[in-house]
Amino acid sequence: MKIIRSIKSIQTLSCQLASQGMKIGLVPTMGFLHDGHLSLIKRALKSCDVVITTIFVNPTQFAQGEDLSTYPRDEKGDIQKIQNAGGEIVFIPKASDIYPENYQTYVDVGNLTQTLEGESRPLHFKGVTTIVAKLFNMIRPDVVVFGLKDFQQATVLKKMTIDLNYPIKFIIAPTVREKDGLAMSSRNKYFSDAQRQEAICLYIALQKAKEMTNSGVVECKVIKKEMRAVIKKICKTAQIDYIAFTDFDTLAPTKTVVGNTICSLAVRLHGVRLIDNLKLS
Ligand code: AMP
Repeated sequence: MKIIRSIKSIQTLSCQLASQGMKIGLVPTMGFLHDGHLSLIKRALKSCDVVITTIFVNPTQFAQGEDLSTYPRDEKGDIQKIQNAGGEIVFIPKASDIYPENYQTYVDVGNLTQTLEGESRPLHFKGVTTIVAKLFNMIRPDVVVFGLKDFQQATVLKKMTIDLNYPIKFIIAPTVREKDGLAMSSRNKYFSDAQRQEAICLYIALQKAKEMTNSGVVECKVIKKEMRAVIKKICKTAQIDYIAFTDFDTLAPTKTVVGNTICSLAVRLHGVRLIDNLKLS
């Protein structure tokens, strides 16, 4: 297992691997890994000779008042998990190396970043696209794998990959869930046992949407009303940030469920903001 911490070393290693004809996969993460992250490493290994997993809690994607300082970390445990999943290289850079003093350059994708998550977190995607572009430039992967769990992030990054002509195969892997359906997330750790029970409301609401669509209800307004009721029934204090029905690729809102419609939602539960989504068609 190689643990790389400097930018120079990861650049040198990536060049060596490429010159040996190795196909390089990249899985960017913020650490505190769970089976969702590990599924991405396993997926990358299927298409590549070697996978580089990165662990970096990226400060530029957090706004003031968000959980940057309390974001859970477990470097030792993460390294072990990556190794168990078959990953051989982990890159753990320092924030001061990624963003040295007087850092000035950012990557900004247009409209796709203004909606859904972008409405509540206006600078979030600028931070995400910047760090991922920097990782692409340092590592020059052949393949990159992101999770459907953060579908807007995947859509934005896919667009950046196309627009900036990165010759990288872009894979979006399915959401891995707990037994009861809650999407795995590093932030689930913030809940007490009782709160954790209520966190299921996002998944149950999405299931309701799927059920209604399957039975022929296609009007998003009607489905949304039911979803709100489901969430409030499970957690009275839940604050629904949004429930949206959009096209998967363009993120254009839709009034009726048609081909390529995805339902996504963000809900604040006991001070923790969770997101989830489900393709409805
Ligand atoms: P994060 O560490 O939260 O930045 O996530 C790193 C990557 O893991 C992103 O591509 C996420 O979409 C993906 N991911 C997070 N949770 C899950 C999950 N439950 N299933 C699949 N992928 C996930």
